Amino acid sequence: MIGDTRHSYAWKQTRLRILERDGYVCQIGWCGGVDLLSLPERERQVDHIVPVAAGGTDDDWNLRVACAKCNTSRQDREFARVSGTNPRWINAA
Ligand SMILES: [Zn+2]
Repeated sequence: MIGDTRHSYAWKQTRLRILERDGYVCQIGWCGGVDLLSLPERERQVDHIVPVAAGGTDDDWNLRVACAKCNTSRQDREFARVSGTNPRWINAA
């Protein structure tokens, strides 16, 4: 998914749990593993390892924390892989 568009209570709890599990360190790591506590709140993101668009779920095993920079770069790559030349995410629904 692009951005963090869900704001339900359950998602906030999940997000916090993943941040704490991963120690507030970016798990994608292209940034060298930035300390997310040094970033503004909106740049502390939770990444779906298997994208929602590809059938990924919100289960803990499919989630990891990432900084905004890595997450955005990854989504760009993932999106190219999943969609080929089409500049949109495939809607799994
Ligand atoms: Zn990062």
